[in-house]
Amino acid sequence: MTDDLYCDTCEQWVARSDTTRSEPMGNLDPHAWQMLCCPTCGNRLKTVFVGDE
Ligand SMILES: [Zn+2]
Repeated sequence: MTDDLYCDTCEQWVARSDTTRSEPMGNLDPHAWQMLCCPTCGNRLKTVFVGDE
């Protein structure tokens, strides 16, 4: 199982451990959800559940 995420803007794969996190959009609880962003361009790659971390 891989956690790599693809950035359409940079056209490259980013390891999940290399992404930066930001608060989710909308009404999502930032304690339970985090946005994983590309460390190079800041593009939002994926919203992940972190409530069990
Ligand atoms: Zn990028």
